Amino acid sequence: MGKLEITDLVKIFDDGARAVDAVTFDVEEAEFVVIVGPSGCGKSTTLRMIAGIEAETAGEIRLAGQRVNDLSPGQRDVAMVFQNYALYPHMTVAQNIGFGLRRRGMPRAEVKKAVHEAAEVLELGALLNRRPATLSGGQRQRVAMGRAMVRQPKLFLFDEPLSNLDARLRLSMRGEIRRMRSHQRTTTLYVTHDQTEAMTLADRVIVMKDGRIEQIGTPMDIYRRPASLFVAQFIGSPSMNIIDAQLGNGGAQLADGTLLDIPVEAAPGTRVKLGFRPEAIALGNDAGLPARVETLEPMGQELIVEFATQ
Ligand code: ATP
Repeated sequence: MGKLEITDLVKIFDDGARAVDAVTFDVEEAEFVVIVGPSGCGKSTTLRMIAGIEAETAGEIRLAGQRVNDLSPGQRDVAMVFQNYALYPHMTVAQNIGFGLRRRGMPRAEVKKAVHEAAEVLELGALLNRRPATLSGGQRQRVAMGRAMVRQPKLFLFDEPLSNLDARLRLSMRGEIRRMRSHQRTTTLYVTHDQTEAMTLADRVIVMKDGRIEQIGTPMDIYRRPASLFVAQFIGSPSMNIIDAQLGNGGAQLADGTLLDIPVEAAPGTRVKLGFRPEAIALGNDAGLPARVETLEPMGQELIVEFATQ
């Protein structure tokens, strides 16, 4: 296990695009950090540079105190689980999980023990003699995780490992990952575009946009105190409501003259964006903002109401 330290990491591709632009962050030993952001923001490229399968343009990558920039992927002692989990089709589940260990020359009996331990955690015990073609997507994903787990690397890297699974399986795999964490606390960096995955799995979340870090914080920090309009709207579903206002008269005044009685810290006259979460809205007749209901979206345990302010 080890701490990961990333300093001013840059990737400029041949076409001149800055896919990753001076990214700096740490993942503490045993911590689970999730990078989240929209498609193309540079998440995968960041991960691939840390794994050593994409060369960085500039910056430093340190793992367990050692600079690893110039080490090959194999020398870095990192295990990566990809979106397309790339199992060997001709090998059984047990052989797939144990492959890396055998290649490193671990004695047969020890490989077998490690494979069985991982299979138990991931509930793959009954499937050890099956080949990948006979498994469901979720089972294959668990095999790929098993293969990473048995190696006991210094660092786990996950690149959108659940994105090929249907909604129900994604939910159960999130549970599996949390369960795996309770057995093996390996330093982990996990990339996803799915903010629910980020919020539910992470000790800390890194929100990226256009190759840069917008905010780093615990899931609740990011939710309660977003550092930018982008983070405010990216995290949370349905997303935060934003309206323009101007401060003054002891509150925030909207374009139509409505005065909202909210505590403000900036000088009167300042133009602001007011953000409020859907769950912060209460219906009433006497105060607040007049609104017209546009659509109702029943979700089962909740009802999402879309409204327009007049
Ligand atoms: P996604 O969620 O869609 O995988 P991402 O956040 O992981 O997105 P990256 O795959 O890291 O994004 O890509 C970041 C940017 O770098 C994108 O604009 C992408 O088009 C560009 N890019 C990625 N790989 C290359 C490449 N080999 N050559 C040129 N540009 C690339």
